[in-house]
Amino acid sequence: MTTGFFWDEQCFWHGGGNYAGMLPVGGLVQPLDGGLPESPETKRRLKNLITVTGLAQELALSGADAATRDDLLRVHPAHYLGEFKALSDAGGGELGRRTPFGQGGFEIAAQSAGLAKAALAAVLGGELENAYALSRPPGHHCLPDYPNGFCLLNNIGIAIEAAKAAGLAQRFAVLDWDVHHGNGTEAVFYDRADVLTVSLHQERNYPMDTGAFSDRGTGDGAGFNLNIPLPPGTGHTGYLSAMEELAIPAIHSFAPDVLIVACGFDAAANDPLGRMLATAETFTLMTRQVMSLAAQLCDGKLVMVHEGGYSETYVPFCGHNVLQEMAGSEISAPDPFAQVFPLRQPDPRFDAFVAAWIADMKAAL
Ligand code: ZN
Repeated sequence: MTTGFFWDEQCFWHGGGNYAGMLPVGGLVQPLDGGLPESPETKRRLKNLITVTGLAQELALSGADAATRDDLLRVHPAHYLGEFKALSDAGGGELGRRTPFGQGGFEIAAQSAGLAKAALAAVLGGELENAYALSRPPGHHCLPDYPNGFCLLNNIGIAIEAAKAAGLAQRFAVLDWDVHHGNGTEAVFYDRADVLTVSLHQERNYPMDTGAFSDRGTGDGAGFNLNIPLPPGTGHTGYLSAMEELAIPAIHSFAPDVLIVACGFDAAANDPLGRMLATAETFTLMTRQVMSLAAQLCDGKLVMVHEGGYSETYVPFCGHNVLQEMAGSEISAPDPFAQVFPLRQPDPRFDAFVAAWIADMKAAL
């Protein structure tokens, strides 16, 4: 069995408008080459890198149908889809917070969700051992009726509901290691006991007012949401420890039919939208952790869905490491920052502070 890699050229054509980093251009804010941080480059260059190293030849590359209207309606209300489609047809614009899109943005977002849906269905159907969806635009911030944080449709939510409607699985665990809180996925499943949502993120980065450890779910979903906010500056050791001490035990006791990772790379050391110090090696080892967990719980059924990550230079190497690990391949893309980022790891006293922070959360569970 092989590792699937779902991608579509259209996802690289999603337009982010006239931005200077996080700021709309206007007044004294000048246009910036590259525009919005959520640009195609990080994702396109990951695809380029796996092609150049030859890793792509060991993966099952595939496209996918766009998510259908029925797929979208399981997560998003008709009024939101109508507004999104109308503005997309009219040339694009913004419906939420700093989440611009261009002409055809609706169809591209549906394509992005379709990649996640197909990856999950193929793994649950036993056609693939595990799979990666190079979705763009990302999805984990998108609430049912409110796009934000570059996310226009909740890709993972749509994929889960489609799998559930098709009778492919009953219990889903989502682990979000993007540096930002997975507020959209949390909102979609906050009152549900059949979907465990775990988010590992930099405390009060984005959104600043969500992602608290105390937010554990409501109603039937009480106890089925776990936020693991970490202090800015957390590095390789802190990330692996938060996984080992908090995320993995929570998923283990939930015993899902499949494990889905909201795979952002913005916890990496040089990301412009994060203040963490993970390295490409951190992503290798976290992938190893989730593969081992999936092997114990659900026959190795693991699906990664691409989320954030804004370093054009580093995301491809972090992503290559994840895919190499998922495929068990010998083909590597050596980290060009391997001599630098390990030297920039936190002082041992800060790692001890993070360890105590994690221990406090563990004691409060
Ligand atoms: Zn992010």
